[in-house]
Order: sequence, then C-alpha cells, then structure tokens
Amino acid sequence: MSEKPATKLTPMMEQYFEVKRGLPEGTLLLFRLGDFFELFYEDAVIASRLLGITLTKRQDYPMAGLPYHAADNYVTKLLAAGRKVALCDQSGPVKPGKLVKRTLTRILTPGTTLAASQLDANRNHYLCALAHDKRGLHASWLDLSTGEFRLASDPRIENLLPVLTALAPAEIVLAEGDLEHWQAQVAAHESGQAELRDLVQFCADRTRSEVPAYHFETAAGAKTVMDTLGVLNLEGFGLAATHPALGAAGALLYYATENLRSRPENLRKLQEYRSSGTLLLDPATLRNLEIFSSSRGTRDGTLLEAINRTRSATGARLLERWLSAPTLQLAEIHRRQHLVGELAAQPGRLAELQDSLSQVRDIPRILGRLQNRLRNPRELAGIRDSLAQFPKIRADIGDWGGQLADEYSARIAPLPELLDLLSRGLADELPGDVADGGMIRAGHDQELDLLRSLTSNNKTWLAQLEAEEQQRTGIKSLKVKFTNNFGYYIEVTKANLHLVPENYIRRQTTVGGERYITEELRQKEKEIFTSEERAIAREQDLFHALVSSVLAEAEPLASTADALAELDVLAGWATLAREWDYTCPIVDESDQLLIEEGRHPVVEQRLKAPEAAATASASSSAAFVPNDTELASNGAQLALITGPNMAGKSTYIRQVALIALLGHIGCWVPARSCRIGLVDRIFSRVGASDDLARGNSTFMVEMNETANILNNATRRSLIILDEIGRGTSTYDGLSIAWAVVEHLHADPEAGPRTLFATHYQELTQLEKHLPRLRNLSVTVKEWNDEIVFVRRVQPGAADRSYGIQVARLAGLPLSVIERAKTILSRLESEEAVVALPPTNQPAPAARPRKKITVEAIDDSQLSLL
Ligand code: ADP
Repeated sequence: MSEKPATKLTPMMEQYFEVKRGLPEGTLLLFRLGDFFELFYEDAVIASRLLGITLTKRQDYPMAGLPYHAADNYVTKLLAAGRKVALCDQSGPVKPGKLVKRTLTRILTPGTTLAASQLDANRNHYLCALAHDKRGLHASWLDLSTGEFRLASDPRIENLLPVLTALAPAEIVLAEGDLEHWQAQVAAHESGQAELRDLVQFCADRTRSEVPAYHFETAAGAKTVMDTLGVLNLEGFGLAATHPALGAAGALLYYATENLRSRPENLRKLQEYRSSGTLLLDPATLRNLEIFSSSRGTRDGTLLEAINRTRSATGARLLERWLSAPTLQLAEIHRRQHLVGELAAQPGRLAELQDSLSQVRDIPRILGRLQNRLRNPRELAGIRDSLAQFPKIRADIGDWGGQLADEYSARIAPLPELLDLLSRGLADELPGDVADGGMIRAGHDQELDLLRSLTSNNKTWLAQLEAEEQQRTGIKSLKVKFTNNFGYYIEVTKANLHLVPENYIRRQTTVGGERYITEELRQKEKEIFTSEERAIAREQDLFHALVSSVLAEAEPLASTADALAELDVLAGWATLAREWDYTCPIVDESDQLLIEEGRHPVVEQRLKAPEAAATASASSSAAFVPNDTELASNGAQLALITGPNMAGKSTYIRQVALIALLGHIGCWVPARSCRIGLVDRIFSRVGASDDLARGNSTFMVEMNETANILNNATRRSLIILDEIGRGTSTYDGLSIAWAVVEHLHADPEAGPRTLFATHYQELTQLEKHLPRLRNLSVTVKEWNDEIVFVRRVQPGAADRSYGIQVARLAGLPLSVIERAKTILSRLESEEAVVALPPTNQPAPAARPRKKITVEAIDDSQLSLL
C-alpha cells in the first residue's frame, strides 16, 4: 500500500508523500536520495518485479533503489512495460542535518517521453486524445519529440479509426469514464455499436490515461491551443474556433504540460487532418497486407521494410507517415513520381546525395529536446555536424537541375553563421552532461580561457610550492595534496615533524603524520576554487547561449530537416526503382487498374535474397513470376481467381493491392507498366486471421470484416477477398461467398474493383450471369500425376481443384491419396460413395521405423504408436 502509514513519519517521508499525493494514479515515483533514486511501498514492489532490482526494508516499509546514473535504462524498461514514471530530484544544496529541497522534475509516460534512448529513431511516437459524441469521433495527436500536432474529426468512426490505427499511438488520453461508457453502450447493443466496438477495442489495447472531462470542452480546448502555440486565433491554421476536435487537442496539451511540468515548447502549428484526402487502409488491411508489421509481428517481411531505402531517421519516419496516409492529391503524387525519376536518372550523384543525407542527424528530435529543457552537449554537436552537410547538399541539388533544384535548393537553409558559431564554440570531444563541463572549445571566449588558465596556473603553482617547501624545510617526503573534504594541505610524515617550520598551521593528525596548511596555501585554494567555479558557471552560460543561437534558428532548421527527410525518402525510392526495376505508374482519375507484368514487392525480394536462393525448395522457384491485371469499375470489375492451394492466388491478389497502394504514395511500382485510377479505400479479407486470442471465433471475425466491406465500399474502392466462408460448412460457406459476389456486382453500372480468390469451383459459373465478372485461374502443370506450379495467372476458370495432388506433396500416405481420388471421382459423377469397411483401412503408420506385427503388440508398444 502506498497509503500514508499511521505512525509518525520522518520529515523526508513527509516530503515523499506530499509529492506522491499530487501524482496521477498508477504513477511510479522515483525519489532522489543522494546517488540513488528510491521507490517506496507498492511502487518498490512493482519496480523490483519489473526491473529485477532488490527489494529491501526500511523501518517497516518496502523500498527499492536504482543508481542515479543508470536511471535512464531503468526508466526505459518501465515505460516499455506501459508504466508512468515521476522523477523527483534534489533541487537544493545538501547540508548535513537539513532536509534537502526536492521538486518533481517531470512525469514520463509512454507517449510523452523525449529521451533518445526511449524512442525508436525510425518511428513516429504519438500521443493521441480521443472523444466521441453525436457529431462523431474527434481526435488529436501529437509527437512531442518532433512537434508534429494534428487534429481530425469525422462523423463516422470507421473513417477515422483506420488512420489512428496506422499511427499506432504509444499512449492515448481519454476523458474520465468515457471508455466504460462506450463499453456499456456496446454491451447494450445500442445503435452504431459495431463501430463503437472497434473504438473500444482500439482503446483497450493501449496504454491509457484519463483526464477530467472538462479538459475536453471545445472552447477551453481552443484557448489552451492558442495559448500554447502563442497565437490569437486559429484562422492561420484554417480552423474554426468551434472545430469539434479542439477539445481533444486541448486535453492533449493539458496532459503533456502536466507531464513535462512545463508547456511543450516545440509546437508551432496545428494541422487539420482530413480523411477525405487520403486513401484509407482499414486495420484489417494493414494487418493482412503486412504493411507495417508482418504476421509474425516483426518488421521483417513488411511492405515498409521492402521499400525503405532511407538513410536517416527523419526520412524513415516520413516514409512511415506517407505510407500510413497515402494521398489522393494527384498533383502531389505526380510531384513525387517525377522527383524519383530525376533522382534515379543520375545514379552516381544519387549515391553521393544519400551519403550526405546519412550524415544529417535527427534535427527535429534534437530541437524538441533542446526546446523542452533536455540539453545534452553531444546533441548540440549533432546540429553542428548536420549543418556542415547543408551547403554541400544544397549545391548538389542545385547542380542537378530540373524540378529537384527548383523545389529543394530554396528549402535548404545554409545557415553559415550558425555553423561557424557552433564550430568555434563546441569542443571536439563532448561530455554527455552539461554539469561535467568541458564542452566549450578553447579560444571561443576570453573570460573562460582566463579562468581556465588561472586554474591551471594555480595547479602549476602548487607543484612549485611542493618543490620549494621540500627545499626550504629539507623534508624530502613533503607533499602538497588535495581531498574533497579537506581541500589543499601539506603533508609531513611523523619522522620529519621536528623539521616543520613556524608558519605551518596544524589541521589534522593522521596515522602516518600531520596535515598542515599555510596562509599562502589557504589564499591559493580560494583562488582555485573560485576560478574553477567561475569557469564552470561561465561555461554553462556560454553553452546556453549556443543553445539559444540554435533555437533562434529553429524555424529554418526544422524546415530544412523536413526538406531533407523528403529528399531521403525520394532518393531511397529512386534507388529501389533502380535495384528492382520499378516503373512509374500512370495515376489518374480513371476507374482502371491495369498492371502489366506486376510483381509482389515483398515476395520478389525474399525470393532473390541470397539466403532464400540457398534454401530454395521445389515449391519456390528462384525467380518471381510476373502477372498481369486488368480491372475497371465499369468493365472488368470483379476477378474471380481459382486454382489449387499453393498456386499463388493469395500472393497475386495481395500484389495488386500493394501496387495500388505504392502508386498512391508516389513510389514507383514493381511492374512493366501500370495505370492506377485513384482508389479511395483498400479493403481486404484474407485467410483465417489469428484473432482467436481476442475471443472471437474465426468465422465471426471473417463475417465482421466482410460486413465492413459490403457496408462501406464505394465505386472507387479496391477489395481483395480470399477464401470467404471457409470457417463454416461447405454449403454455408459457398452460399455466403456467392451472395457476397452478387452484392459487389449489384450496382448495374459499376462497382468496386475486386479480386476474389476462392476454392469454390461452383462460383465460376457466375461468369455467365454477371457481365462484369471475369474468371481467372492460376495454372499448374500436370506431370505423371504430379503437379508443377508455374504461378501464371490466366483467363478462365481452373478446371479442377488439384487439392489431392497438393495433399500428396504435403506427405499424406499414398493409400489415403488413392482412396481420396476414388471418392472424388464418385462425387464428381454424383455416384453414391460407399464407405469402406473398417478391415480395408490401411495400416496406421505410413513408414514405421520398426515393423510391428499385430500379434506382437503389447501395452508398452501401444503407447509408442
Ligand atoms: P495460394 O494462395 O494459391 O495457396 P500462395 O499465394 O500462398 O498460394 O503462394 C504459395 C507460394 O508460392 C508462396 O510461398 C509464394 O512465395 C510462392 N509464389 C506465389 N506466387 C508466386 C510468383 N508469382 N512467383 C514465384 N513464387 C510465387
């Protein structure tokens, strides 16, 4: 229990509870005690469990400590475990017998941390506030580490929730009681509960914090936003003061300010996010298409990984943002495509440019920390080293010519004065902490140089003093020494005490002799201390002046960093296009999706990777087989793909969706040629997903996803469906799949472009009735009763399912295969299948290691079978 105990507390523990009382629930308090941060009571128990640190007892209560210098690592672990951590530091001098003053310096939560060690450099790190009312879903999100700040509102949860899912916020902020309220509504099956259920699920999966509901009021929110951004109205951001998401934005700022213990200083603007301007990717689609995370939960094997050739953290984060919100603005898409083309056209220069970009440090995050009082000398050097690259990149881009030069030269601010100042001011080797000193270069400041030379002159003086005194007194072993507690003194051993001169003042007796001071020495000591102290103070002033000079240029630095991040992404795509022979797709307002010789961007790379080539088995030929696609809302709208298992159906339909997606972020695509009419939303329902852990049956999940598609798809949508209806009996499944196809084709003029891979051979008959449906099949070749996969998609239905041959490849016993063939031919000719009598059943083990005759079996051997 962290309740205050009844017994009388020490003043320090009084102080502890004072701080603890002011903290939000569940926050672990790290209380500074000398060289340690200590946790008490229940906090100590939790921390010892999560961190594996020792739990001790002090008087009667549990306590656990961690060394101050290693605190960063421990805090990282606590945050990763979804905990919130408050740091209470010593803020006054330590005097014996007196209670040290302590202040709460900041509260760290998964969504508000800024330390580099606690952030993944290549990922955005969002804190997101959510509210829901009659007008819809309102959200605001903020990356405190970079200052990106947005808000959005949509009457329908499912137009906004996909966007929020793609952002993958580290923490969400809700009004007190909201989640319980929504849960109750879902449980009561009130209207719109399917959407609300998704929202509840989204919130339940994440680290959450609650703030009083009044922080979510629109008017108060507008005021908080204006105060924080230092503006008088919101018109400059194109926002009405009544925007329904301003409450969420205000609550977010309130929460961030509470945790930082001061206003976030690196926010410059609030941008509205409009879901109508982006291609929406449903949560199911993000998962099924393995865009940010593979089915195994790794980054390996994802689309993001396959197209990421960025060389800087800012570039990697921008790529993630572009991929999570593909644009529907044709001009923007064409702009990016064109720049990729210009970059790809000059491979030598491209490599050089990428090299320079890789030396640019994480400017937005460094600025974010500097602005929010986390000041690390090495990070200032990061700005210096980045600035050193600016002129070269600017010149390179200028020489490049074309649109690249037109757009980007002007966006790179060279800032030569700042570079000069930092180069002259900062030392080469820098400490990790301002308090350590040594960050200012000699020659930068006369006063500091003087103070430093005083200190070192005085140290020389001390060495001289030692020699002189030895000479004068004749004591060869005489030493001038220093200790922290005692300061400077002269040490004389016992044997020589009779030689000590008059002017020595005895201060202390030790085992070996006596310690003395002299008036002269005391004077010198004072000089040394003051000059050292003044040197450190001067150095800190100078350092903060350098920080201020950097912050004065925060605007051009940040916008240059933005431009360089874009260049990094685009240069990466140019490299990718060259490496893998991508083509620039035509993206337009048509209703087409035409792909000639398209390839799956992830599978293709995996097949050609050196390790894959080495382990290539018979089932995966070394080269990817390209395939064509032809879809159009009012023409070939719906493609029904049949073919045996393992033929490549799933790969094919996914590849089409991925190519369409790549087209919308402005990336080139793996195909010989390609035309993509804008897609408003990509839906997918693929395979049996592993949602069982969430307590939903596979079939239920499948039907939920299908319902979402049928309810929300428009003529501009792209749908990929795989194996609908598998989670139920064949007839149920077939009927559902049939009805779904008909529904998608119901509009007499046009419908969503759809790829439907299925096992149900019967569905191919629909081609006769539905004019916009086309049958496709993935061919296999037969060879002496065996099948060979050729991975070729061609017009027409598969003539049979080949399931039995595939079962054989999987190692089913031959007798079972033979029997299955007989049953199949009878079923196909609609003859009755006669069950075999049990005696005719084949022996159980196909290849027993040891031949066991029936008579010889006893109980012990039975268990082996
Ligand atoms: P299905 O959905 O028909 O069961 P999959 O799409 O899962 O088949 O493909 C089976 C395997 O074949 C996968 O491992 C994949 O790597 C490989 N494959 C699929 N399509 C191709 C292709 N076009 N070229 C080369 N290999 C492919």
